[in-house]
Amino acid sequence: MLNADFRPLSYYPLSLWGWQDAIKAVFLDRVNIVSHYDRVVKSPSFEMRLPSVVSLKAYVRPSRQPAFTRFNVFLRDRFTCQYCGEHEELTFDHVVPRSKGGATTWENVVAACSPCNLRKADRLPSEAHMTPIQKPYAPSVSDLHRNGRLFPPNYLHESWMDYLYWDSVLEP
Ligand SMILES: [Zn+2]
Repeated sequence: MLNADFRPLSYYPLSLWGWQDAIKAVFLDRVNIVSHYDRVVKSPSFEMRLPSVVSLKAYVRPSRQPAFTRFNVFLRDRFTCQYCGEHEELTFDHVVPRSKGGATTWENVVAACSPCNLRKADRLPSEAHMTPIQKPYAPSVSDLHRNGRLFPPNYLHESWMDYLYWDSVLEP
């Protein structure tokens, strides 16, 4: 599912529609068919090849600033504990603890595994000798897109490929 500029509406999760929704959108004239599967769907009155890539006719403007959500914090931190690099048992850590005035903001919250979270407890990074791998920051939409591309779904049809990474060369 592509925006009118032929970029995916979202990378992670990748914007995917079921075939019924895709066909419905074609008939409602909301999308253009960009690519097909070989598979054909038939009804008594019509027959068509299943669309594999569709693009919206009307451009949807992406929000400029990503929402500060659990999911987006994990995505910014690439689902990696910012203290030990672990990917399991992820939760959140306030770099400056709330008890010491630390705010719940992009700049003070990082992904952390439960063991690190417990170990750091209510201490400052300097007290715990635990500094985040990456200084927490408010990401842009393209930061999150870039990270989202690191986590492709298990199945990618070959006809999708041309539309998935085309802008990656433009970003450092
Ligand atoms: Zn950890």
